[in-house]
Amino acid sequence: MDRFDVIVIGMGCGGMTAADRLLKAGRRVAVIERELIGGECSYWACIPSKTLLRGPEARGEAERTAGVATPAIDWPGLRDYHDFMVRHLDDSAQVKGYEQAGATVIKGPARIAGPGRVEADGQLLEADHLVIATGSQPVRPAIEGLDQVTVWTNREATNVRDIPSRVLLVGGSAVGVELGTFYAGMGAQVTIVQHASRLIDREDPRVGELAEQTLAAQGVTVHTGATPVGARTAGQATVVTLDNGSQVETDVVILAAGRRPATGGFGLDTLGVALTGRGGIAVDEHCRAGEGVWAVGDVTGVALFTHLAMYQGRVVADNILGRGRTATYDGIPRVVFADPEIAAVGLTAAQAADRGIATATAQISLAETVDRPWTYERDPRGALGLLADRDRGILVGAWAIAPLASEWIHQAALAIRAQIPISVLLDQVAQYPTYNEAYLVALEKLGL
Ligand SMILES: Cc1cc2nc3c(=O)[nH]c(=O)nc-3n(C[C@H](O)[C@H](O)[C@H](O)COP(=O)(O)OP(=O)(O)OC[C@H]3O[C@@H](n4cnc5c(N)ncnc54)[C@H](O)[C@@H]3O)c2cc1C
Repeated sequence: MDRFDVIVIGMGCGGMTAADRLLKAGRRVAVIERELIGGECSYWACIPSKTLLRGPEARGEAERTAGVATPAIDWPGLRDYHDFMVRHLDDSAQVKGYEQAGATVIKGPARIAGPGRVEADGQLLEADHLVIATGSQPVRPAIEGLDQVTVWTNREATNVRDIPSRVLLVGGSAVGVELGTFYAGMGAQVTIVQHASRLIDREDPRVGELAEQTLAAQGVTVHTGATPVGARTAGQATVVTLDNGSQVETDVVILAAGRRPATGGFGLDTLGVALTGRGGIAVDEHCRAGEGVWAVGDVTGVALFTHLAMYQGRVVADNILGRGRTATYDGIPRVVFADPEIAAVGLTAAQAADRGIATATAQISLAETVDRPWTYERDPRGALGLLADRDRGILVGAWAIAPLASEWIHQAALAIRAQIPISVLLDQVAQYPTYNEAYLVALEKLGL
């Protein structure tokens, strides 16, 4: 039986980050991955979706830039670059890299056999610490007849070979909006069905409204407050019936109705760890799930983002290395890579109210307040919203819908995480002309 300091189960971005840090510190590490080292993000989520979105986005940028002819999208060229970016679904270089870094790499499903014991590839391994980083699985909603029609998850949708003429997305949060943006940009007729009363419903209502306007301008049909209840084939097409009685014809149904932490079927019960109400592994502030058991990433259900998984990976590795580190989740950005980008951080107004925070809010149109949107594109787009804690004089939330918002939301992210006083933010001098300048306008509008 092989003995290790740490066994990492699942080598997505969370598991990899923990393993990398532990290996660098000279620990004996075994890593076990049943599919591809790199996980969902590298092959079927963040990387392929952002690579694919870039084509229509660049074309849109050219269209909106004065004096630039509109380029055509070369789909085979974009698809080839996508294939390169997902390494042609081949992780042999990653396997080699981990072996060279000193890890024992096992490709195959892991099964926990009790505290500190894991079976994989016919071997029994032991370790002082288990890091569970098994990610999440797409939710398959109960829709009658779904088994009879063409259904894709994010995996097929981000590895598409031929763009379908029509797609119906079940779910209007980040994944649904991003995939809808891509397929619409590629000329497909896109319908999004969202059970909540607005898109991206975990953010402030204004964000959902602006997202819907953006998608409508791209020709996307959005049904909010609706749920698909049935699906059937009709000749070459699929007909999806919604609970409001509408029928939508499509070529493919894409599931974007959320993801569930992957906690079942690999012996987790033998460790006696608890699950949260959202189905994730319950962890303490050190990402510890029990004695010698740690969990990182989507499987914790804290928030399903790569940057969060990597952060928890760093926290866990540091704790295993005896560096005593606590995870905190304030000021972690959330971006939907639509066109323009939709970025948010911190609390929504409703969450702040639930916590009894006395707030001040400000919303501004970027075109009316700063110059960069005008130099960037004709008919400039963009809005910024801020939420402040009146009593403490700090920002507690922000959202932005604008070009490059994924980049400049970090100004608010840092302000929230570091609790920078608004008086200091007001004294900051931003480069002219930039989108960042909008913060000063919105901060002044808070009137604190
Ligand atoms: C379409 C889409 C786009 C996204 N875009 C973004 C984005 O732009 N930015 C962002 O921050 N987040 C994005 N996300 C979310 C992001 O992909 C996840 O938050 C991230 O992949 C989570 O990483 P993880 O390491 O927790 O899990 P995963 O990446 O899912 O990795 C878990 C790994 O564990 C392995 N595994 C599971 N069980 C076992 C077992 N028993 N034995 C061995 N191996 C096992 C799996 O095979 C998998 O490789 C997106 C998600 C989707 C669906």
